Amino acid sequence: MHLDLSEEQTLIQDTARRFAESELAPVAARIEAPTGRAQYLAGLKQLAELGFMGLNVSPEYGGTGAGVVAFSVALTEVSRACAATGVAMSVNNLVCEVIQSIGTEDQKRRFIPRVCSGESSCASFCLSESGAGSDPSRMTTRAVRDADGWVLNGTKMWISSAEYAGFFVVWAVTDAAAPTGKGISCFIVDADTPGITIGPAEHKMGQRASSTNPVIFEDCRVPADAMLGAENQGFRIAVGELTGGRIGIASLALGVGQAAIDYARRYTTEREQFGQRIADFQGIQFMLADTYTELEAGRLLAMNAAWLKENGRPYMKAASMAKLHCSEAANRACYTALQLMGGAGYTEEYPLERYARDARVTSIYEGTSEIQRVIIARELLKEVS
Ligand SMILES: Cc1cc2nc3c(=O)[nH]c(=O)nc-3n(C[C@H](O)[C@H](O)[C@H](O)COP(=O)(O)OP(=O)(O)OC[C@H]3O[C@@H](n4cnc5c(N)ncnc54)[C@H](O)[C@@H]3O)c2cc1C
Repeated sequence: MHLDLSEEQTLIQDTARRFAESELAPVAARIEAPTGRAQYLAGLKQLAELGFMGLNVSPEYGGTGAGVVAFSVALTEVSRACAATGVAMSVNNLVCEVIQSIGTEDQKRRFIPRVCSGESSCASFCLSESGAGSDPSRMTTRAVRDADGWVLNGTKMWISSAEYAGFFVVWAVTDAAAPTGKGISCFIVDADTPGITIGPAEHKMGQRASSTNPVIFEDCRVPADAMLGAENQGFRIAVGELTGGRIGIASLALGVGQAAIDYARRYTTEREQFGQRIADFQGIQFMLADTYTELEAGRLLAMNAAWLKENGRPYMKAASMAKLHCSEAANRACYTALQLMGGAGYTEEYPLERYARDARVTSIYEGTSEIQRVIIARELLKEVS
Protein backbone atom coordinates (compact mmCIF):
# COMPACT_ATOMS: atom_id res chain seq x y z
CA MET A 1 0.00 0.00 0.00
CA HIS A 2 1.24 3.50 -0.85
CA LEU A 3 0.80 5.81 2.12
CA ASP A 4 1.19 8.94 0.00
CA LEU A 5 -1.82 10.13 -1.95
CA SER A 6 -1.32 10.68 -5.67
CA GLU A 7 -1.60 14.17 -7.13
CA GLU A 8 -5.19 13.46 -8.24
CA GLN A 9 -6.20 11.98 -4.87
CA THR A 10 -4.71 15.00 -3.07
CA LEU A 11 -6.61 17.36 -5.36
CA ILE A 12 -9.87 15.51 -4.65
CA GLN A 13 -9.20 15.55 -0.91
CA ASP A 14 -8.42 19.30 -0.97
CA THR A 15 -11.51 20.03 -3.06
CA ALA A 16 -13.68 18.02 -0.67
CA ARG A 17 -12.19 19.78 2.36
CA ARG A 18 -12.66 23.27 0.90
CA PHE A 19 -16.23 22.52 -0.17
CA ALA A 20 -17.10 20.91 3.18
CA GLU A 21 -15.66 23.81 5.19
CA SER A 22 -17.25 26.55 3.13
CA GLU A 23 -20.62 25.05 2.15
CA LEU A 24 -21.51 22.17 4.50
CA ALA A 25 -20.10 23.04 7.93
CA PRO A 26 -21.90 26.40 8.26
CA VAL A 27 -25.34 24.79 7.74
CA ALA A 28 -24.81 21.33 9.27
CA ALA A 29 -26.65 22.17 12.51
CA ARG A 30 -29.46 24.10 10.78
CA ILE A 31 -30.33 21.36 8.28
CA GLU A 32 -31.08 18.94 11.11
CA ALA A 33 -34.52 20.60 11.33
CA PRO A 34 -37.19 19.59 8.79
CA THR A 35 -37.07 23.17 7.44
CA GLY A 36 -33.48 22.51 6.34
CA ARG A 37 -34.45 19.92 3.71
CA ALA A 38 -34.00 22.20 0.66
CA GLN A 39 -30.57 23.28 1.84
CA TYR A 40 -29.56 19.67 2.48
CA LEU A 41 -30.60 18.64 -1.02
CA ALA A 42 -28.79 21.67 -2.47
CA GLY A 43 -25.59 20.42 -0.83
CA LEU A 44 -26.07 16.98 -2.39
CA LYS A 45 -26.57 18.58 -5.80
CA GLN A 46 -23.33 20.54 -5.43
CA LEU A 47 -21.51 17.34 -4.45
CA ALA A 48 -22.79 15.69 -7.63
CA GLU A 49 -21.56 18.66 -9.67
CA LEU A 50 -18.13 18.20 -8.10
CA GLY A 51 -18.18 14.58 -9.29
CA PHE A 52 -18.40 13.10 -5.78
CA MET A 53 -21.46 10.88 -6.30
CA GLY A 54 -19.60 8.41 -8.51
CA LEU A 55 -15.97 8.61 -7.48
CA ASN A 56 -15.30 4.95 -8.22
CA VAL A 57 -17.58 4.88 -11.26
CA SER A 58 -16.34 4.94 -14.84
CA PRO A 59 -16.59 8.29 -16.69
CA GLU A 60 -18.46 6.31 -19.37
CA TYR A 61 -21.46 6.35 -17.02
CA GLY A 62 -20.95 9.86 -15.68
CA GLY A 63 -18.62 8.92 -12.83
CA THR A 64 -15.25 10.37 -11.94
CA GLY A 65 -13.23 7.16 -12.18
CA ALA A 66 -10.96 8.39 -9.39
CA GLY A 67 -10.96 5.12 -7.44
CA VAL A 68 -11.68 3.84 -3.96
CA VAL A 69 -8.89 5.66 -2.11
CA ALA A 70 -10.08 8.99 -3.53
CA PHE A 71 -13.65 8.10 -2.51
CA SER A 72 -12.50 7.27 1.03
CA VAL A 73 -10.53 10.47 1.63
CA ALA A 74 -13.22 12.67 0.05
CA LEU A 75 -15.94 11.08 2.18
CA THR A 76 -13.91 11.67 5.35
CA GLU A 77 -13.63 15.37 4.50
CA VAL A 78 -17.34 15.73 3.72
CA SER A 79 -18.27 13.91 6.95
CA ARG A 80 -15.99 16.13 9.04
CA ALA A 81 -18.45 18.87 8.20
CA CYS A 82 -21.74 16.97 7.89
CA ALA A 83 -22.22 13.25 8.48
CA ALA A 84 -25.80 13.37 7.16
CA THR A 85 -24.44 14.55 3.81
CA GLY A 86 -21.67 11.97 4.07
CA VAL A 87 -24.10 9.08 4.42
CA ALA A 88 -26.00 10.10 1.26
CA MET A 89 -22.71 10.37 -0.62
CA SER A 90 -21.69 6.94 0.67
CA VAL A 91 -24.96 5.23 -0.29
CA ASN A 92 -25.08 6.95 -3.70
CA ASN A 93 -21.58 5.73 -4.52
CA LEU A 94 -22.53 2.26 -3.25
CA VAL A 95 -25.67 2.03 -5.40
CA CYS A 96 -23.78 3.26 -8.49
CA GLU A 97 -21.10 0.65 -7.89
CA VAL A 98 -23.67 -2.17 -7.54
CA ILE A 99 -25.17 -1.24 -10.90
CA GLN A 100 -21.75 -0.77 -12.49
CA SER A 101 -20.56 -4.18 -11.35
CA ILE A 102 -23.60 -6.33 -12.20
CA GLY A 103 -25.97 -4.24 -14.31
CA THR A 104 -26.65 -4.68 -18.00
CA GLU A 105 -25.28 -2.01 -20.32
CA ASP A 106 -28.80 -0.57 -20.59
CA GLN A 107 -29.22 -0.40 -16.78
CA LYS A 108 -25.83 1.26 -16.38
CA ARG A 109 -26.64 3.92 -18.98
CA ARG A 110 -30.16 4.53 -17.69
CA PHE A 111 -29.53 4.74 -13.95
CA ILE A 112 -25.95 5.58 -12.99
CA PRO A 113 -25.79 8.99 -14.73
CA ARG A 114 -28.92 10.12 -12.88
CA VAL A 115 -27.12 9.92 -9.55
CA CYS A 116 -23.70 11.05 -10.77
CA SER A 117 -25.16 14.18 -12.39
CA GLY A 118 -27.42 15.05 -9.46
CA GLU A 119 -30.60 14.64 -11.54
CA SER A 120 -31.62 12.25 -8.73
CA SER A 121 -30.41 13.62 -5.38
CA CYS A 122 -30.10 10.06 -4.17
CA ALA A 123 -30.68 6.41 -4.83
CA SER A 124 -31.56 4.01 -2.03
CA PHE A 125 -30.29 0.58 -1.04
CA CYS A 126 -33.34 -1.41 0.12
CA LEU A 127 -32.13 -4.52 1.89
CA SER A 128 -33.16 -4.44 5.58
CA GLU A 129 -36.58 -5.40 6.92
CA SER A 130 -38.06 -5.29 10.40
CA GLY A 131 -37.30 -8.99 10.91
CA ALA A 132 -34.14 -9.10 8.78
CA GLY A 133 -31.41 -6.64 9.82
CA SER A 134 -28.14 -8.36 10.69
CA ASP A 135 -29.44 -11.42 8.85
CA PRO A 136 -30.98 -10.09 5.62
CA SER A 137 -31.18 -13.62 4.20
CA ARG A 138 -34.41 -13.95 6.26
CA MET A 139 -36.17 -11.22 4.29
CA THR A 140 -39.82 -11.76 3.44
CA THR A 141 -40.36 -9.24 0.63
CA ARG A 142 -41.45 -11.32 -2.36
CA ALA A 143 -41.15 -10.84 -6.11
CA VAL A 144 -43.47 -13.08 -8.09
CA ARG A 145 -43.21 -13.49 -11.82
CA ASP A 146 -46.17 -12.47 -13.97
CA ALA A 147 -46.62 -12.24 -17.73
CA ASP A 148 -44.71 -8.94 -18.17
CA GLY A 149 -42.22 -8.99 -15.34
CA TRP A 150 -42.34 -9.18 -11.55
CA VAL A 151 -44.74 -8.12 -8.80
CA LEU A 152 -43.15 -6.94 -5.55
CA ASN A 153 -44.81 -7.10 -2.13
CA GLY A 154 -43.22 -6.36 1.22
CA THR A 155 -41.78 -3.64 3.45
CA LYS A 156 -38.19 -2.51 3.67
CA MET A 157 -37.11 -0.69 6.83
CA TRP A 158 -34.60 2.04 7.73
CA ILE A 159 -33.94 3.02 4.14
CA SER A 160 -31.55 5.97 3.91
CA SER A 161 -32.64 8.82 1.59
CA ALA A 162 -35.85 6.99 0.57
CA GLU A 163 -37.90 10.20 0.71
CA TYR A 164 -35.95 11.86 -2.08
CA ALA A 165 -34.48 8.89 -3.94
CA GLY A 166 -35.00 8.75 -7.70
CA PHE A 167 -34.85 4.95 -7.70
CA PHE A 168 -34.28 2.00 -5.42
CA VAL A 169 -32.12 -1.08 -5.59
CA VAL A 170 -34.36 -3.65 -3.89
CA TRP A 171 -33.82 -7.22 -2.74
CA ALA A 172 -36.72 -9.70 -2.74
CA VAL A 173 -37.28 -13.45 -2.50
CA THR A 174 -37.86 -14.90 -5.97
CA ASP A 175 -37.69 -18.58 -5.04
CA ALA A 176 -39.41 -19.21 -1.74
CA ALA A 177 -38.63 -22.94 -1.91
CA ALA A 178 -34.86 -22.41 -2.10
CA PRO A 179 -32.69 -22.70 1.05
CA THR A 180 -32.37 -19.43 3.05
CA GLY A 181 -30.45 -16.82 1.05
CA LYS A 182 -30.39 -18.88 -2.15
CA GLY A 183 -33.65 -17.63 -3.65
CA ILE A 184 -33.17 -13.86 -3.46
CA SER A 185 -32.87 -11.51 -6.45
CA CYS A 186 -32.11 -7.85 -6.86
CA PHE A 187 -34.16 -5.27 -8.80
CA ILE A 188 -33.86 -1.61 -9.85
CA VAL A 189 -37.17 0.15 -9.30
CA ASP A 190 -38.03 3.73 -10.27
CA ALA A 191 -39.39 5.69 -7.30
CA ASP A 192 -42.51 6.74 -9.21
CA THR A 193 -43.56 3.14 -9.99
CA PRO A 194 -47.18 2.60 -8.85
CA GLY A 195 -47.40 0.45 -5.73
CA ILE A 196 -44.60 2.15 -3.75
CA THR A 197 -45.31 4.10 -0.57
CA ILE A 198 -42.64 5.87 1.43
CA GLY A 199 -43.50 5.63 5.13
CA PRO A 200 -42.93 8.40 7.67
CA ALA A 201 -39.31 9.28 8.48
CA GLU A 202 -37.84 7.78 11.64
CA HIS A 203 -37.10 10.24 14.47
CA LYS A 204 -33.42 9.56 14.88
CA MET A 205 -30.76 10.34 17.44
CA GLY A 206 -28.31 11.65 14.84
CA GLN A 207 -27.64 12.23 11.14
CA ARG A 208 -31.06 13.86 11.22
CA ALA A 209 -30.84 15.73 7.93
CA SER A 210 -30.67 12.37 6.16
CA SER A 211 -34.13 10.81 6.08
CA THR A 212 -34.59 7.15 7.02
CA ASN A 213 -37.92 5.62 6.01
CA PRO A 214 -39.82 2.42 5.48
CA VAL A 215 -40.45 1.66 1.80
CA ILE A 216 -43.62 -0.33 1.21
CA PHE A 217 -44.22 -2.34 -1.96
CA GLU A 218 -47.85 -3.32 -2.64
CA ASP A 219 -48.47 -5.14 -5.90
CA CYS A 220 -45.66 -3.08 -7.38
CA ARG A 221 -45.18 -4.24 -11.00
CA VAL A 222 -41.74 -3.93 -12.53
CA PRO A 223 -40.66 -5.05 -16.01
CA ALA A 224 -38.52 -8.13 -16.54
CA ASP A 225 -35.50 -5.95 -17.32
CA ALA A 226 -35.69 -4.45 -13.80
CA MET A 227 -33.81 -7.48 -12.49
CA LEU A 228 -30.24 -6.55 -11.56
CA GLY A 229 -27.80 -9.42 -11.93
CA ALA A 230 -28.76 -13.06 -12.24
CA GLU A 231 -31.98 -14.50 -10.82
CA ASN A 232 -31.58 -15.91 -7.29
CA GLN A 233 -28.04 -14.51 -6.99
CA GLY A 234 -29.14 -11.40 -5.14
CA PHE A 235 -27.94 -12.31 -1.68
CA ARG A 236 -24.40 -12.96 -2.90
CA ILE A 237 -24.53 -9.58 -4.65
CA ALA A 238 -25.71 -7.80 -1.49
CA VAL A 239 -22.99 -9.34 0.66
CA GLY A 240 -20.31 -8.47 -1.90
CA GLU A 241 -21.43 -4.89 -2.35
CA LEU A 242 -21.89 -4.22 1.38
CA THR A 243 -18.21 -5.06 1.80
CA GLY A 244 -17.34 -2.00 -0.27
CA GLY A 245 -19.95 0.05 1.61
CA ARG A 246 -18.09 -0.66 4.83
CA ILE A 247 -15.08 1.27 3.55
CA GLY A 248 -17.50 4.15 3.08
CA ILE A 249 -18.84 4.01 6.63
CA ALA A 250 -15.33 3.63 8.07
CA SER A 251 -14.28 6.77 6.17
CA LEU A 252 -17.41 8.64 7.28
CA ALA A 253 -16.88 7.70 10.93
CA LEU A 254 -13.27 8.86 10.78
CA GLY A 255 -14.45 12.27 9.61
CA VAL A 256 -16.86 12.67 12.52
CA GLY A 257 -14.31 11.52 15.11
CA GLN A 258 -11.65 13.79 13.64
CA ALA A 259 -13.96 16.81 13.63
CA ALA A 260 -14.83 16.24 17.29
CA ILE A 261 -11.32 15.88 18.59
CA ASP A 262 -9.94 18.72 16.44
CA TYR A 263 -12.60 21.01 17.90
CA ALA A 264 -11.89 19.93 21.46
CA ARG A 265 -8.09 20.17 21.02
CA ARG A 266 -8.43 23.84 20.08
CA TYR A 267 -10.70 24.38 23.09
CA THR A 268 -8.14 22.90 25.49
CA THR A 269 -5.64 25.54 24.39
CA GLU A 270 -8.14 28.35 25.13
CA ARG A 271 -9.89 27.17 28.28
CA GLU A 272 -8.16 27.93 31.59
CA GLN A 273 -8.74 26.30 34.99
CA PHE A 274 -6.53 26.29 38.08
CA GLY A 275 -4.73 29.31 36.58
CA GLN A 276 -3.50 27.53 33.44
CA ARG A 277 -4.60 26.20 30.05
CA ILE A 278 -6.29 22.84 30.50
CA ALA A 279 -4.08 21.63 27.60
CA ASP A 280 -1.14 21.91 30.00
CA PHE A 281 -2.52 19.20 32.29
CA GLN A 282 -0.87 15.90 31.46
CA GLY A 283 -4.20 14.09 32.02
CA ILE A 284 -5.69 16.14 29.16
CA GLN A 285 -2.64 15.60 26.95
CA PHE A 286 -2.93 11.83 27.35
CA MET A 287 -6.58 11.95 26.27
CA LEU A 288 -5.54 13.85 23.13
CA ALA A 289 -2.62 11.49 22.46
CA ASP A 290 -4.74 8.35 22.77
CA THR A 291 -7.58 9.69 20.62
CA TYR A 292 -5.35 10.94 17.79
CA THR A 293 -3.45 7.64 17.83
CA GLU A 294 -6.67 5.62 17.58
CA LEU A 295 -7.99 7.71 14.70
CA GLU A 296 -4.67 7.55 12.86
CA ALA A 297 -4.74 3.74 13.18
CA GLY A 298 -8.26 3.85 11.75
CA ARG A 299 -7.14 6.01 8.85
CA LEU A 300 -4.48 3.43 7.98
CA LEU A 301 -7.00 0.57 8.19
CA ALA A 302 -9.44 2.43 5.94
CA MET A 303 -6.70 3.31 3.46
CA ASN A 304 -5.53 -0.30 3.42
CA ALA A 305 -9.03 -1.63 2.70
CA ALA A 306 -9.56 1.01 0.01
CA TRP A 307 -6.19 0.26 -1.60
CA LEU A 308 -6.87 -3.50 -1.62
CA LYS A 309 -10.25 -2.96 -3.26
CA GLU A 310 -8.85 -0.51 -5.78
CA ASN A 311 -6.15 -2.99 -6.73
CA GLY A 312 -8.48 -5.95 -7.13
CA ARG A 313 -7.19 -7.80 -4.06
CA PRO A 314 -9.40 -9.61 -1.51
CA TYR A 315 -10.55 -6.99 0.98
CA MET A 316 -13.43 -8.46 2.99
CA LYS A 317 -11.48 -8.85 6.26
CA ALA A 318 -9.74 -5.49 5.80
CA ALA A 319 -13.05 -3.68 5.15
CA SER A 320 -14.65 -5.18 8.25
CA MET A 321 -11.60 -4.36 10.38
CA ALA A 322 -11.71 -0.78 9.11
CA LYS A 323 -15.47 -0.44 9.75
CA LEU A 324 -15.22 -2.00 13.21
CA HIS A 325 -12.25 0.06 14.35
CA CYS A 326 -13.16 3.40 12.76
CA SER A 327 -16.77 3.41 13.95
CA GLU A 328 -15.85 2.48 17.51
CA ALA A 329 -12.83 4.82 17.57
CA ALA A 330 -15.04 7.65 16.28
CA ASN A 331 -17.54 7.04 19.09
CA ARG A 332 -14.73 7.06 21.66
CA ALA A 333 -13.27 10.21 20.08
CA CYS A 334 -16.63 11.96 20.36
CA TYR A 335 -17.02 10.86 23.99
CA THR A 336 -13.52 12.08 24.87
CA ALA A 337 -13.86 15.32 22.91
CA LEU A 338 -17.12 16.14 24.68
CA GLN A 339 -15.50 15.34 28.03
CA LEU A 340 -12.60 17.66 27.20
CA MET A 341 -15.06 20.53 26.81
CA GLY A 342 -16.84 19.91 30.08
CA GLY A 343 -20.37 21.34 30.40
CA ALA A 344 -19.90 23.44 27.25
CA GLY A 345 -19.57 20.28 25.19
CA TYR A 346 -22.98 19.10 26.37
CA THR A 347 -24.80 22.17 25.05
CA GLU A 348 -26.08 22.86 21.56
CA GLU A 349 -23.93 25.98 21.45
CA TYR A 350 -21.05 23.74 20.35
CA PRO A 351 -21.11 20.98 17.72
CA LEU A 352 -19.82 18.27 20.07
CA GLU A 353 -23.23 16.93 21.03
CA ARG A 354 -24.13 16.67 17.32
CA TYR A 355 -20.89 14.86 16.51
CA ALA A 356 -21.57 12.40 19.36
CA ARG A 357 -25.11 11.76 18.07
CA ASP A 358 -23.92 11.44 14.46
CA ALA A 359 -21.14 8.99 15.29
CA ARG A 360 -23.38 6.59 17.20
CA VAL A 361 -25.03 4.89 14.23
CA THR A 362 -21.76 4.15 12.46
CA SER A 363 -21.28 1.03 14.58
CA ILE A 364 -24.82 -0.10 13.71
CA TYR A 365 -25.65 0.42 10.02
CA GLU A 366 -24.06 -1.48 7.14
CA GLY A 367 -23.39 -4.28 9.61
CA THR A 368 -23.10 -3.81 13.38
CA SER A 369 -19.75 -4.09 15.16
CA GLU A 370 -20.75 -7.60 16.24
CA ILE A 371 -21.36 -8.62 12.62
CA GLN A 372 -17.97 -7.14 11.62
CA ARG A 373 -16.39 -9.34 14.31
CA VAL A 374 -18.28 -12.36 12.96
CA ILE A 375 -16.87 -11.66 9.47
CA ILE A 376 -13.32 -10.98 10.68
CA ALA A 377 -13.29 -14.15 12.81
CA ARG A 378 -14.71 -16.23 9.93
CA GLU A 379 -11.97 -14.96 7.60
CA LEU A 380 -9.27 -15.53 10.23
CA LEU A 381 -10.37 -19.12 10.84
CA LYS A 382 -10.65 -19.79 7.11
CA GLU A 383 -6.97 -18.81 6.82
CA VAL A 384 -5.92 -21.67 9.13
CA SER A 385 -8.28 -24.38 7.92
C1 LIG B 1 -29.92 5.47 10.38
C2 LIG B 1 -29.99 4.13 9.72
C3 LIG B 1 -29.88 4.05 8.34
C4 LIG B 1 -29.98 2.81 7.70
N1 LIG B 1 -29.94 2.75 6.33
C5 LIG B 1 -30.18 1.57 5.72
C6 LIG B 1 -30.30 1.52 4.28
O1 LIG B 1 -30.16 2.53 3.57
N2 LIG B 1 -30.59 0.33 3.71
C7 LIG B 1 -30.77 -0.81 4.44
O2 LIG B 1 -31.03 -1.86 3.84
N3 LIG B 1 -30.66 -0.80 5.79
C8 LIG B 1 -30.39 0.36 6.45
N4 LIG B 1 -30.30 0.40 7.82
C9 LIG B 1 -30.49 -0.84 8.59
C10 LIG B 1 -29.20 -1.33 9.26
O3 LIG B 1 -28.34 -1.86 8.29
C11 LIG B 1 -29.59 -2.32 10.35
O4 LIG B 1 -30.16 -1.55 11.41
C12 LIG B 1 -28.40 -3.11 10.87
O5 LIG B 1 -27.94 -4.01 9.90
C13 LIG B 1 -28.74 -3.90 12.14
O6 LIG B 1 -29.93 -4.62 12.00
P1 LIG B 1 -31.06 -4.51 13.14
O7 LIG B 1 -31.26 -3.07 13.41
O8 LIG B 1 -32.21 -5.31 12.71
O9 LIG B 1 -30.41 -5.13 14.44
P2 LIG B 1 -30.44 -6.70 14.83
O10 LIG B 1 -29.97 -7.50 13.67
O11 LIG B 1 -31.75 -7.02 15.42
O12 LIG B 1 -29.33 -6.73 15.96
C14 LIG B 1 -29.60 -6.43 17.34
C15 LIG B 1 -28.32 -6.70 18.12
O13 LIG B 1 -27.98 -8.09 18.01
C16 LIG B 1 -26.64 -8.21 17.57
N5 LIG B 1 -26.47 -9.42 16.76
C17 LIG B 1 -27.23 -9.83 15.70
N6 LIG B 1 -26.73 -10.95 15.19
C18 LIG B 1 -25.62 -11.26 15.92
C19 LIG B 1 -24.65 -12.31 15.87
N7 LIG B 1 -24.68 -13.26 14.93
N8 LIG B 1 -23.66 -12.31 16.79
C20 LIG B 1 -23.60 -11.34 17.73
N9 LIG B 1 -24.48 -10.32 17.82
C21 LIG B 1 -25.46 -10.28 16.91
C22 LIG B 1 -26.40 -6.95 16.75
O14 LIG B 1 -25.02 -6.67 16.62
C23 LIG B 1 -27.13 -5.91 17.59
O15 LIG B 1 -26.32 -5.52 18.65
C24 LIG B 1 -30.16 1.63 8.47
C25 LIG B 1 -30.22 1.73 9.87
C26 LIG B 1 -30.16 2.95 10.50
C27 LIG B 1 -30.26 3.01 11.99
